[in-house]
Amino acid sequence: MGEVWDAVYNSLTERNNWTPRKADKLWVSEIGACGRAVALRLRNEERAQPDVDNLLVMRGGIAWENQTFAELQQEYGKDVRAQTRLSDENWSGKPDFDLFHASEKATPIIIEHKAQDPRSSFGKPKEKHLLQLALYGWLYEKQFGVEPRLKLFYRAWGEWAEYDIGVFQDVIQVSGSCHGKQLLKQVQVSFDDNRAYKEMLRATGVMPPYEEKRECRWCGYADACARDWKKDEDTRRVMHALVKAG
Ligand code: SF4
Repeated sequence: MGEVWDAVYNSLTERNNWTPRKADKLWVSEIGACGRAVALRLRNEERAQPDVDNLLVMRGGIAWENQTFAELQQEYGKDVRAQTRLSDENWSGKPDFDLFHASEKATPIIIEHKAQDPRSSFGKPKEKHLLQLALYGWLYEKQFGVEPRLKLFYRAWGEWAEYDIGVFQDVIQVSGSCHGKQLLKQVQVSFDDNRAYKEMLRATGVMPPYEEKRECRWCGYADACARDWKKDEDTRRVMHALVKAG
């Protein structure tokens, strides 16, 4: 049975044009992530494999994404692309889809697609997803000289949400609908600060201090993080003892 499931999942989630992200750059999806996890990833620390539940969620997400791609292709044909690489000297990332690249008939659109658990506040725009999209838009404009429109899609069984995203100085405006219900809201963010902070971590190799938060529960770097934190604690203890002895 396991082999059958594997075959089904592989056929649903196969990606022909998949290429790995650049290991030595910041990943766009990291802009709103824990700085310590980003520093550990750049330091090439070992990451725990996701457990079966998480793996199923991840593969389910890719299956949804493939479905949306097929729908977009049906509607826009060759005007839709998937996984286009965007980068600069610090960042590397691939938005899920982009439409009307180099087109004379329409403004390019970048779409980020997220599959969600319908039981937990489905369709609520998350700050880290908004920052991720804002950064894709910023990189696209830097690379191609055109400011793209930005869209965020959420999908789950029987649920959908589609939003237009507008990036202003410290505010991201979200407008659209969640399962037919209109939503218009402004989310306070610090896009430039978040970007500059992660670029500083990359440039200096600084390891931010451990600070317990929600993400720690499912963080793949939890073991490496605890090991590193323990090492820092030991160093502090030795220094303290030396100062006292002196
Ligand atoms: S365990 Fe928590 S603090 Fe440590 S890297 Fe992961 S999210 Fe960050």
